[in-house]
Amino acid sequence: MARPRTQARKPAARSTMVKSKDRATSTPAARRAVLKRIRDEGVEHVLFWFTDLEGHLKSFAITPAEMEEALNDGMGFDGSSITGFNAIEESDMVAIPDPATFQLLPRPVDEHGHELGSKVARMICDVVTPDGSPYEGDPRYALRRALGRMREMGFDAFNVGPELEYFVFEDDKGTETIDEGGYFAMTAQDAATEMRNDTIAALESVGIPIEYHHHEVGPSQHEIDMRYSDALAMADHTITYRLIVKEVAAWHGYYATFMPKPLYGENGSGMHTHMSLFKNGRNQFFDRRDEHHLSKTAKSFIAGLLVHAREMSAVLAQWVNSYKRLVPGYEAPVYVAWSQRNRSALIRIPLYKPGSEQSTRAEIRCPDPACNPYLAFAALLQAGLEGIEQGYELPEPMETNLYRLTAEQRQERGIIALPGSLGEAVDELAGSALMERALGSHIFPRYVELKRRDWDEYRSQVTEWELRKYLAAL
Ligand code: GLU
Ligand code: MG
Repeated sequence: MARPRTQARKPAARSTMVKSKDRATSTPAARRAVLKRIRDEGVEHVLFWFTDLEGHLKSFAITPAEMEEALNDGMGFDGSSITGFNAIEESDMVAIPDPATFQLLPRPVDEHGHELGSKVARMICDVVTPDGSPYEGDPRYALRRALGRMREMGFDAFNVGPELEYFVFEDDKGTETIDEGGYFAMTAQDAATEMRNDTIAALESVGIPIEYHHHEVGPSQHEIDMRYSDALAMADHTITYRLIVKEVAAWHGYYATFMPKPLYGENGSGMHTHMSLFKNGRNQFFDRRDEHHLSKTAKSFIAGLLVHAREMSAVLAQWVNSYKRLVPGYEAPVYVAWSQRNRSALIRIPLYKPGSEQSTRAEIRCPDPACNPYLAFAALLQAGLEGIEQGYELPEPMETNLYRLTAEQRQERGIIALPGSLGEAVDELAGSALMERALGSHIFPRYVELKRRDWDEYRSQVTEWELRKYLAAL
């Protein structure tokens, strides 16, 4: 049911008053342009998308006849069955579609090149309450709030480039790989090249520019990197990317997964995330005079990431399985340190090339591609801004391979580890005032509870490993 316009536009009366830039709004011209495209392209359905707390994509379909009203006033829906949203007694929610996100979705083609299925477009939504104020349980709003803090601090863009890795299996019932592959493996071995090319074409067709793609280290493991963008657009791209990768794999008869560590003894799938802050089109992370070419802003931002790394771990790596990836020996980070070269460190500063001021950036390596990108980018930005605001000092870089240091050597150098399990990560999160502010008072306790429940369920399992190890011996 669509809400009357007067209600949806009423300013928030409570202390959660949001500044106009952080509100879900759109211009009449942008809304008219969407209606025109729907007519011109003969779109049959428009999907309205948002995510739950864990980043699962939620979608409902609108017919073109309803679109004008839906664009103006949003579409009402029942939020009570969405993970982490409100319980039944206050479950009325309104999804406001963002006109900038209107895209036609790619369709499979038959052997003659004819497109199959109906013409479907998607729009990404902000979720608001019936009185028009932003819904505190909407992950996109948590990111908007972080961006609001960034603007107040004088920056105008948080640019993000995530590198999502994924595996392709025969189906979703097991982990039967489709090639042996290896890093940068070429066509003869790489049965999935054609599928990857189709995936890239599909991603580009929905306005996601691709920079780089290759076979990853693991068998059947791939990486397609999107060109960096501001964090809100990039979080929208990320949820779209995951859907398209899975869909194109399905067209080819396979199953693609972003599960962080599906294969024991092989690399897991990470989502290394490159970050920088811009102001007036200039990269605020760059300083020509510094030996690492990093500005004071960049150094404090990185220090913020390091100081708060353990607290935000449950947001960047949110599943029990995420912590099977964050172990020594698989190019995933374990220790909280930064470096210019070393891939075992949590944060890496990609090599500076003369003339590449605009691409000076920090890469954080612990996130995995099964995170909620809105919450992950919000947590990263808030941690970095905290570092800038509080003037955190960046420690010396750590250029040795951290996997090789003994526990004593690490202790001597003051190097701490990331949480070793979801249980440890949730305890860190639950005690974090910064993450409570980053996620907000609605999301924070619900998220902690969800993750605790997962961990409690998991830790009482009796695994194959235990039976093999103990049954005959004890
Ligand atoms: N797959 C590795 C990870 O889990 C990263 C490999 C790479 O350096 O790209 O983070
Ligand atoms: Mg990679």
